[in-house]
Amino acid sequence: MRKQIVAGNWKMNNDLAQTEALITELKKWTKTSDASIMVAPTFTNLWQAYQSLKDTHIEVIAQNMHFAKNGAYTGEISATMLKSVGVETVILGHSERREYFNETDELLAKKVDAALENEMTVIFCFGEVLADRKSNNHEKVVESQIKNALFHLKAWDFKRIILAYEPVWAIGTGETASPEQAQDMHAFVRKTLADKYGYEIANSVSILYGGSVKPNNAQEIFSKPDVDGGLIGGAALNAEDFFAIVNAF
Ligand code: PEP
Repeated sequence: MRKQIVAGNWKMNNDLAQTEALITELKKWTKTSDASIMVAPTFTNLWQAYQSLKDTHIEVIAQNMHFAKNGAYTGEISATMLKSVGVETVILGHSERREYFNETDELLAKKVDAALENEMTVIFCFGEVLADRKSNNHEKVVESQIKNALFHLKAWDFKRIILAYEPVWAIGTGETASPEQAQDMHAFVRKTLADKYGYEIANSVSILYGGSVKPNNAQEIFSKPDVDGGLIGGAALNAEDFFAIVNAF
């Protein structure tokens, strides 16, 4: 059985006091689903968040990292630095990183390798822009993002890979992919994985959906057979909404 996961990406929101306040709120809510819960505060608040949440069912994860171990990369954070503050999972390839920081598939392949070498788990994001969807190229685009960044991996590496399909046109826009569009893409991605690594691996990898998931649409999206959870942006900044989504399974 695949892991069900709901991960909140807090992006560049919340200073230390706001992070503590949100964590206090999160701790008041009870999980009634089997889903694993993760939250990704900004780098400066990871240690504090880890200390506050380490004895709970909420894992603290990072939003990004550099591929190098250390060195002259001003402003960057390495896998070992993340691990030193209790972080074992990192989001890589978010569309905002691709768009605003020019992260390419080739760069992401190096980041994935660095995370895996450090025995971290990766939430690998991919997804098409609106023009790709309109021109019916969405599957081709997604296929190449996955192949370029992940298909040099060995089958066993996929134990530490979580996929997140995030159509760029649905992120922060209030527009959601329909449950059918999400299911179609997730099934396509699973088939793409199966063609390369076989169905046993493909069926073991959790594929999350991200893009304006809210309490009022989570249940329908999560009910699709190839949707194993969500990567949540805006709604993750409110504890009640976030837990409504966690409990939507
Ligand atoms: C995201 O940024 O990963 C995301 C899914 O954002 P939102 O839920 O706000 O669309």
